Amino acid sequence: MKQLIAGNWKMNGLLAAKAEVVALANALKGRAVPEVLVCPPATLLRALIDTVEQSPVRLGGQSCHAKESGAHTGDISAEMLKDAGASYVIVGHSERRTDHKESSAEVAAQANAAWRAGLAAIICIGETDAERASGRMQDVLAAQIDGSIPAAATAQNTAVAYEPIWAIGTGKTASRADIEEAHAFIRARIEAKLGAAGRAIRLLYGGSVKPSNAKEILHAKGVDGVLVGGASLKASDFLAIIDGAKLD
Ligand code: PEP
Repeated sequence: MKQLIAGNWKMNGLLAAKAEVVALANALKGRAVPEVLVCPPATLLRALIDTVEQSPVRLGGQSCHAKESGAHTGDISAEMLKDAGASYVIVGHSERRTDHKESSAEVAAQANAAWRAGLAAIICIGETDAERASGRMQDVLAAQIDGSIPAAATAQNTAVAYEPIWAIGTGKTASRADIEEAHAFIRARIEAKLGAAGRAIRLLYGGSVKPSNAKEILHAKGVDGVLVGGASLKASDFLAIIDGAKLD
């Protein structure tokens, strides 16, 4: 499968930000590109869908509720994201796990909801600084993999994003060796859990990816793409990251 370059806008972006997606879509039209995804706030999905239609850019949501509909004020279902033009949804981002106390079981239910609605899920996992420093990184990742990735995950319906929490929005990037070591561990654990289906699931790295480090990260062993926060907001930065992808 192609590498996946996904942008997570988080709680950033008003209608004026459409100009960035227009610039991105125009720059990528007719070019050989990796898979490119923009996950804006859900309020912008409908406004952006026409912009990306004739381009390789796809849209995604940043989270979803596990249920299809109902009395859940403020929540958005996977079906609503699909209806608004999304092809993917991020689930289990560390900011959701922290701010909204989402457990791995809830993340797994959200991934199932994504598939029910016809969306692919990007399931996020990652350790804190303290967990890494105390030698618990592998235990934390193993528990998140076991609890957050449903048994029916395949390369078509799922990507897994390794996002060390200490590297998100901090400017601190994991070293190439750290990324390769974590990805090798995650791949082995996913394969042990899912068997052959786990072999082709794309593993993304996320955490302070920017134009200056994207190429090295995207060429690291076991890296099938990146999940980008801050540097996905400006088309010029995101394009420079996309340029670092492997195209074979
Ligand atoms: C993210 O939000 O998933 C992320 C990796 O953020 P940043 O690139 O800003 O560190």
